[in-house]
Amino acid sequence: NTVYLNGSFMPIEEAKISPLDRGFLFGDGIYEVIPSYEGKTVGLEPHMQRMFDGMSAIGIQCNKSLEEWKALIQELISLNGGGNLGIYLQVSRGADVKRYHAYPKDVEPTVFAMVMAIKPAVEADASTAKGFSVATTQDMRWKRCQIKSTALLGNVMHFQEGYASGNDEILLYNEDNFLTEASSSNAFIVKDGVVLTPIQDNQILPGITRKLILDILEKDGSIPFEVRNISMEEVFNADEIWVTSSSKELAPVTVIDGKPVGNGKVGGVWEAAFKLYTQFKFDY
Ligand code: PMP
Repeated sequence: NTVYLNGSFMPIEEAKISPLDRGFLFGDGIYEVIPSYEGKTVGLEPHMQRMFDGMSAIGIQCNKSLEEWKALIQELISLNGGGNLGIYLQVSRGADVKRYHAYPKDVEPTVFAMVMAIKPAVEADASTAKGFSVATTQDMRWKRCQIKSTALLGNVMHFQEGYASGNDEILLYNEDNFLTEASSSNAFIVKDGVVLTPIQDNQILPGITRKLILDILEKDGSIPFEVRNISMEEVFNADEIWVTSSSKELAPVTVIDGKPVGNGKVGGVWEAAFKLYTQFKFDY
């Protein structure tokens, strides 16, 4: 595994970071995961835009241009032999001379990139797709979930809660009992043929898979969708539930809190939407 750290490519064993790095001490950094299938990325520019937005939201100045990031990513893919990869990028605020909360001046951000193996994309076929099971719990994370921060303890604890009870994911709801997202994915439901997903605000990460699906559905026009608040009652009565992310694409959920979603089978709207996604994802 060849990684990139602060200007050089090296074997992961040689990549060393100071314990004073604020990414390590405070989770003070921004990260990104971009899927790449056989050398072809999905959503490269929107992913980079989200990363630039995150850095600007927390005041990290990293001078790499979009073109430089693209070259770095291409180099990393080829050094690691292509295949199905998640390109992991992280920029932390860097290593200060002491541990002190205020943003330091004149500190270079730490720029790190590596690849992670991801599963090959599955067929958009409801008869063979694996159904996910999800738990549900109240969203206890912070109120700036639109920032893709490396401070993931809230997400990690929620994921673990679902995982420990044998689930693939956990759906989260806010104090008003409205669906937000899942611990490492965005969430969609389907009711009477209409696809629904929560609005993009500070309660959810602006998922690129979510964005691509909405864009593709809009362009295609054959599947109606709405972006609006969704109560947990609607979630429990949904015909279909999906969770989406760069590594799992659109995953159909067939079990929620141990009970079947709809008729308990992977749904036809999932199949139709995922076919469209599979067809058009490389356009982004
Ligand atoms: N929400 C959360 C909390 C996430 O961590 C992720 C990404 N792992 C997503 C949504 C999905 O985002 P994307 O489609 O950009 O991978």
